[in-house]
Amino acid sequence: MEDKRVLEGISPEKLFYFFEELTRIPRGSGNEQAVSDYLVTFAKKRNLKVRQDDANNVVIWQEGTTGYEDHAPVIIQGHMDMVCVKDEDCSIDLEKDSLDLCVNGDEIYAKGTSLGGDDGIAVAMALAIMDDDTIPHPPLEVIVTTDEEVGMTGASKLDVAGIEGRALLNIDSEDEGVLTAGCAGGMRVDHVLDVRRENSTGYSYRIIVDGLKGGHSGVEIDKGRGNAVVLLGRFLQELIAHFEESFCVQLINYKGGEKDNAIPLLASADILVQIKDKEKQRGQLEANNDAITSELSAYADEYTRILKNEYALTDCNVSLRVEAINDDSASDVMAVCAEDTQVIADIIVAMPNGIQCMSAAIPGLPETSLNLGILELKDDALYFSQSLRSAVASKKDALFNKISTIAKLAGARTSSRGAYPAWEFKKDSPLREVVTAKYKELFGSEMKVDIIHAGLECGLLSEKLPGLDAISIGPDLSDIHTTSEKLHIESTKRTFELVKAVLASM
Ligand SMILES: [Zn+2]
Repeated sequence: MEDKRVLEGISPEKLFYFFEELTRIPRGSGNEQAVSDYLVTFAKKRNLKVRQDDANNVVIWQEGTTGYEDHAPVIIQGHMDMVCVKDEDCSIDLEKDSLDLCVNGDEIYAKGTSLGGDDGIAVAMALAIMDDDTIPHPPLEVIVTTDEEVGMTGASKLDVAGIEGRALLNIDSEDEGVLTAGCAGGMRVDHVLDVRRENSTGYSYRIIVDGLKGGHSGVEIDKGRGNAVVLLGRFLQELIAHFEESFCVQLINYKGGEKDNAIPLLASADILVQIKDKEKQRGQLEANNDAITSELSAYADEYTRILKNEYALTDCNVSLRVEAINDDSASDVMAVCAEDTQVIADIIVAMPNGIQCMSAAIPGLPETSLNLGILELKDDALYFSQSLRSAVASKKDALFNKISTIAKLAGARTSSRGAYPAWEFKKDSPLREVVTAKYKELFGSEMKVDIIHAGLECGLLSEKLPGLDAISIGPDLSDIHTTSEKLHIESTKRTFELVKAVLASM
């Protein structure tokens, strides 16, 4: 493997050496055995105490350097897994292959795939410090977790026996110059609504909502963007009411969203439309596909105008349309009965969504929010999942109760999973003082202290390590979790300087 290194010559040499090593080990969430073993081997080779726990988290202990032997230990923490995504035409197998690392000026990226700078850079920094005996530091406890990107399950199962440090540097932020000092807690909520299907005859149409921007359900929930699944449910409910006299509407399928922590940008539903007998007798509507199509399309156009007005500033390309699925005669389909179709529309409309409350403590910060991220109508039930976040634990519980109650009234069952605690902002944080002071001393500007509306492992670790003083920092990383992910070299250099300066003064 001693072929030419792409990052050779970029300093700090050791930091970028280990970063490149990590890009050669496939490490998507759930596929961390190899990288976990790599960390254990790293420690054993250097005679460092190491533990790999049942969840494959790795903890490495290193003694303090000369003069620092008696100081309190400091924890350096990051996650070893990454979000693996690739371009359609990319031939790399992310389960097996190395990434195709490239450098362009100040940017490091991986051709055709995500880079894993989130959070490989944290791991590389920890390894570079432990590998270099010229860097002064107190006793170190390096915690590298698994499965951060899929619900932080590694951190939640972390074996903390023997971890004595109560000052924790989490290096999983993407904005140099911003120090994160708190984050919201959250959970995933799943609902199941049983539905009855029946063999029905009618014309089939597809309703499509698209043209939305979507985004992250935590950090972008305050942008006021439309949720395709929710907008489609709202349209369906109004469509049923609007055509009540003429049509009977039954859902065939309904689907939208891919992740519960992403705002859905696309949703579609197939419906079966039957002309009501009364209407047929009055002869006001020809019972044919063309007539129904033009009625529905006109209504959809009108609705698109309403949405374009509502979302003029956030999702100006929003579009809602109705298309005939087959343009011949009426056909037989197993469709959800009209009554249950109504319940589906009602439950989506009744569910709260988006920002529920802004923080009174920090202007501009969302405090409690909800995102309906995935919905799918299967044969005999409707399934949908939400991501719920709140900076206040009791408000998280209250919102869970509220949405469970709405679900119960509609006849649905609710469960939750993957709950993680909020990381509450501490008024007094000696570590925050040190980091912000060192940043100012080194770079001449003030670090911004922030609380974010997204999950970080610091919440789980604070729960496991009572009295923990944690902060989160990191170098500039852009477009994480996408194939455009870029790590910025100069910013990485500065962040590494900062980490070293903080360690030297602890
Ligand atoms: Zn991360």
